[in-house]
Amino acid sequence: MAEKRDYYEVLGVSKSASADEIKKAYRQLAKKYHPDANPGDKTAEAKFKEASEAYAVLSDPDKKKAYDTYGHSAFDPNSAAGAASGFGGFDFGSMDFSDIFSDLFGGAFGGGFGGFSGFGGGSRRSTRPRQGDSIRTRVTITFDEAMKGVKKQVTIPYEEECKSCHGSGAKPGTSPITCPKCRGRGQVTVQQRTPFGIMQSVSTCPDCNGSGKVIKERCPDCNGTGYNRIQKTFEVNIPAGIDNGQSVRVSSGGSPGENGGMRGDLLVGVTVSQHPILKRQGVNIFSTVSIDYPTAVLGGETKVKTADGDVMLIIKPGTQSETKVRLKGKGVPLLRSPKTRGDHFVTVVVNVPTNLTKTQKEALEKYRDTF
Ligand SMILES: [Zn+2]
Ligand SMILES: [Zn+2]
Repeated sequence: MAEKRDYYEVLGVSKSASADEIKKAYRQLAKKYHPDANPGDKTAEAKFKEASEAYAVLSDPDKKKAYDTYGHSAFDPNSAAGAASGFGGFDFGSMDFSDIFSDLFGGAFGGGFGGFSGFGGGSRRSTRPRQGDSIRTRVTITFDEAMKGVKKQVTIPYEEECKSCHGSGAKPGTSPITCPKCRGRGQVTVQQRTPFGIMQSVSTCPDCNGSGKVIKERCPDCNGTGYNRIQKTFEVNIPAGIDNGQSVRVSSGGSPGENGGMRGDLLVGVTVSQHPILKRQGVNIFSTVSIDYPTAVLGGETKVKTADGDVMLIIKPGTQSETKVRLKGKGVPLLRSPKTRGDHFVTVVVNVPTNLTKTQKEALEKYRDTF
């Protein structure tokens, strides 16, 4: 094996280059030497692999540290440095460069690696059961609904199992057969020449995409996919006490899993619209009520709006403006134990009268003269 070039030299960056600079340098080289852009060009392919390997190490903080300390021997299983770095025997052959590549470029190259599986990539797909993706949606409820809990219907696009083939994708009366190429293993072993010599690598079977089964005759009702896209309505139970921005999970309301994996979930984000008077903070509610001046002085009562409806609040004689009154247990129910509730704090504000009538003014002046 030829002497390996320094990774920093390969990417053309300095040892002190930032993560961004390293990424930028690799992006340029990868674009230039990508096999799709240079079909059949072995030199370009070698350069592409060299740059990808350098990037794989220098973009990973742990591997970069090991490389900075020990150089290439950090990854050599037969050296003391390799043992010390913890990466000894780190197998570049098992790395999936298509992941790095798609991180950088997204779908820019379409299938990107197509036939190119230089380092034995393609390990992303496997025969292991994989849970389906979650689907997200939003629903808006009122303040009162959040206090008491509510059922809401949400309608979402949904991959429903095909009724004709029950999800197999095979024409009714037939069933998927064991993939002849991989004999049901889902993986094939490929021998390749690489810059590091001949390597054997295992990749996902191209015929069955790793499922181990192929469909001979497709189900006509779902075109062999096993699923049909419909609009499905779910009834979502939104618990009392839910706060703006929280979400409710509906198990198995998401996308179908792969290889027998479970469905993903439906996540319903909840927006709680604001109440005109009651403000919520955590489990407590805050509001303001104004009383007239004589009531503040002499005492009395005033109507206060709460989450449970109107209540009469007793005003003690001599109540000052900005007095805070606690209505215990009139706050928001706790999500996990809805019988327990926060409190409602009412700020009592005394209205100073303007526009007095002549009689009122005389009465007040008489009051003042008693001092
Ligand atoms: Zn079908
Ligand atoms: Zn196969």
